[in-house]
Amino acid sequence: MPDQLLQWVELGSEPGVAPGPLERVRALLNTDDRFHGTDHLADGPAGLVAFRDAVRRYLTTGDAAGLDALAAAHPLVVAFGAGAATLEPAGGDAVVAGLLADVHRSHAAGEWTRLKACANPDCQWVYYDGSRNRSGRWCSMNECGDVMKARAYRRRARQA
Ligand SMILES: [Zn+2]
Repeated sequence: MPDQLLQWVELGSEPGVAPGPLERVRALLNTDDRFHGTDHLADGPAGLVAFRDAVRRYLTTGDAAGLDALAAAHPLVVAFGAGAATLEPAGGDAVVAGLLADVHRSHAAGEWTRLKACANPDCQWVYYDGSRNRSGRWCSMNECGDVMKARAYRRRARQA
């Protein structure tokens, strides 16, 4: 099956590329490009937009209600073949169901907690934190990290 998602998302856009199928989810999340104020999915399928917005809410606030509702509408079944067990769409939109399977897989692989939204409120770029101690807060230390450190410095200077 051709990956219909690739019509809407750009995989591998730096910074913070995620490993494996999680990159599909990360790339979809970043179609809502808050740094540049552009929604690359503005003309995209409503189901994909709903999934993207529910995943961002889940990622940034832990609120899973929207994602649970989507999962109920796009069921998955376990399929066995070639020595592997995979989750396959069993109804609803196959692209959304496939993405739900990607989120599940990344949880099982311990990768989900490394997916983060940049702490710069003007950015919120979703990136994979590959740092050893998982302590990253910004999408890129060269840009957002410096901006946020400068803001904190000015705030402390004002208060002093
Ligand atoms: Zn950022």
